[in-house]
Amino acid sequence: MPGKRLEGGNGALKLRFGSIVSFSKTEYPGKAAAVVLTAGCPWKCGYCDAGPLVNASGYAEEETSFFVEFLRKNKEHIGSVVFTGGEPCMQGNALVELCKQLSQEGFKIKIDTCGYYPDSLRDLLPYVNYVAMDLKTRFNAEEYAKIAGFKSAPRTLLSQVLRSLAFLEKARVLKEFRTTVIPGVNDFPDVILDITEQVKFADVYALQQFKPKEGLLDKAFESIEMPSKDKLLKLAAVAKHNVSKVVVRADGTEVEVR
Ligand code: SF4
Repeated sequence: MPGKRLEGGNGALKLRFGSIVSFSKTEYPGKAAAVVLTAGCPWKCGYCDAGPLVNASGYAEEETSFFVEFLRKNKEHIGSVVFTGGEPCMQGNALVELCKQLSQEGFKIKIDTCGYYPDSLRDLLPYVNYVAMDLKTRFNAEEYAKIAGFKSAPRTLLSQVLRSLAFLEKARVLKEFRTTVIPGVNDFPDVILDITEQVKFADVYALQQFKPKEGLLDKAFESIEMPSKDKLLKLAAVAKHNVSKVVVRADGTEVEVR
């Protein structure tokens, strides 16, 4: 499924975005990075904390040259650029063109994605160095679509996610997969086993602690309890059956499970 094409009056591709964080030490492993938060996501995960950014409307669009010039000015402080959102791959051709230009400028590029736009992801892969893809639950179409808040076409959704995995398996980039662990939704050993069986090729698999707070897309998630770090460590031991490097992100720290 092709990503959205946004063109300026002169035919230049445009990217819709919420904001740019000009310096972050935490978003690209081991490197200082700028972070571009793209606007829009086709899914509506109840636990999402991206707020209005999920809806593309109301945000500015800029031509790819705007981002290149902005990031070039900061190049002495940052060596990498992270695209997150929202769903960056939703803006397929514009994002591919921008990543191509930034890669030619020498930036390392990381993309965060839910995997719903495999063709855009495939086209991006020659220009990016790191892909972090969310895996929300076991690979059952109805369950996956339910957690993604996208119940209209569950089979399509799952097949797009699986196509993204197939492209990533062959790609020469660093591959991170990650699951936000939500009590009663996906915090079961058989779910984590099913997820990790599909990504044995991962460079890292991360279990992330769900944090209830105000402003989540579905208010019902705001009253779900935060899972304990100990719970995540137990699930990490299950994931280790399939993936050699497993980390737990909980209570403000990241630990690798040995
Ligand atoms: S995939 Fe889900 S969690 Fe990620 S931005 Fe979209 S709605 Fe939010």
